[in-house]
Amino acid sequence: MLSLYNTQTRTVDQVTTQSDGSVAIYCCGPTVYRDAHVGNMRTFLLGDLVTRAIRATGKNVKIIQNITDVGHMSEDLNEDKMLLQSQAESIDPFAVARKYEEKFHGDLALLNIESAQSYPRASESIELMHALISQLISQGNAYVGDDKSVYFSAQSFESYGAISGNRLDALKPGHRYEFTEGGAKRFHADWALWKFAGTRTKMIWDSPWGPGFPGWHIECSAMSLHFLGPKINVHIGGIDLRFPHHENERAQTNSITGGESVDLWLHGEHLLFEGRKMSKSAGNVVLVSDLLERGIDPLSLRLCFLENRYRSQMDLSWDSIKAAQVTIKRWRKKLQEWGPDAPILQDQEILKAVMTDLDMPRVISRLRVVEKDSEISPIEKVGIFKYAEQLIALDLLRGEIAAELPQEAHELLAAREIARSEKNWKLSDELREKLENFGLEIKDLPQSQEWQWR
Ligand code: AMP
Ligand code: ZN
Repeated sequence: MLSLYNTQTRTVDQVTTQSDGSVAIYCCGPTVYRDAHVGNMRTFLLGDLVTRAIRATGKNVKIIQNITDVGHMSEDLNEDKMLLQSQAESIDPFAVARKYEEKFHGDLALLNIESAQSYPRASESIELMHALISQLISQGNAYVGDDKSVYFSAQSFESYGAISGNRLDALKPGHRYEFTEGGAKRFHADWALWKFAGTRTKMIWDSPWGPGFPGWHIECSAMSLHFLGPKINVHIGGIDLRFPHHENERAQTNSITGGESVDLWLHGEHLLFEGRKMSKSAGNVVLVSDLLERGIDPLSLRLCFLENRYRSQMDLSWDSIKAAQVTIKRWRKKLQEWGPDAPILQDQEILKAVMTDLDMPRVISRLRVVEKDSEISPIEKVGIFKYAEQLIALDLLRGEIAAELPQEAHELLAAREIARSEKNWKLSDELREKLENFGLEIKDLPQSQEWQWR
């Protein structure tokens, strides 16, 4: 079975299963107020790799990824990120959300990141959150503040801090917490579950505590419990979510279930670009669409990610992306030359590397060795590459010509991926027809689609 580094236990632990042998994964999703950048995509890829690795062991995976479209506050302005963007673009905040949500799905498809079973939206899970908040209040874990907002009482949860090591007695007042609350909180580390609307008029809902909107952390507790139940085997996010997001989520969910709701907290380290944190002010935010604009196959980015351990910070550059593109092109060409019809050949070294805390760089270096090893026959080489493909998903069997897929076809494929995830079969059939007009043949798999030239 797959073993992964568990932030809470600080050891590499075996992934557990549900009683029916399947594995339940929750992956924190995007805040859809802007395009997801390649750093976000690195974290979303982690969910895909874990899913593929578990499937390789013959187990079923149920993976849920939320869409944060309300309640995520910007730290500097103490304002909802969705509303700030809605003002910047002069469009309704829900239109902002749907626009970037669609682009997010398109980016996932371009990177061969398989769709989750479901992408529940925070704005459509308000009642689930109300139910949890009511229970937390009745249990004494939460209280209504003088400002009519509802707060979680951090001190009511004994093991607060177990994931991040930020114990309550060490958390000083003045640390940056979500929402300025004008003294309504009873303890500085408490956080808002429900925020009273006050003068806010958009993205607000009625609630037993008056009109308002949910806090960011409660959405993940509500959606994970509703879609996956009281036991999650692996919970995934970027390292910045370790605290306070996951710490607060754990306090909320465990208080509801009365047990340990997540067996393994998995965090992906951050991606830097050309040595620096990606930020608007530094002008170095890179999007998947930037690769397309430069005529680079987006799967080159996937290969760059695979060449770095998820637990290490990674520095990406245009040079490394271009080098990966060269490797992919070469491999596609060689697989055609070696004879693409070979049967899949399980490779123990690849299997062991994947199962040992997802050592994908070792998988890639194994492929480089196989490529050059004259003792391995061409048929065996193809078989081993095909085996690896189930995990690395670089479309190596497409043939060299595939890299020249026109941008419009990329977009149609991405749109069809979204239509399928939304079970919009009519649109998905229409898009299939358009893709066939491009000369592509589409094969539908349970969680994804494959294509090849006809
Ligand atoms: P957001 O859309 O900001 O809520 O972030 C979505 C996911 O991307 C979260 O799991 C973040 O932890 C993760 N993330 C944000 N920035 C980076 C980065 N530079 N590298 C890797 N993951 C990131
Ligand atoms: Zn979350």
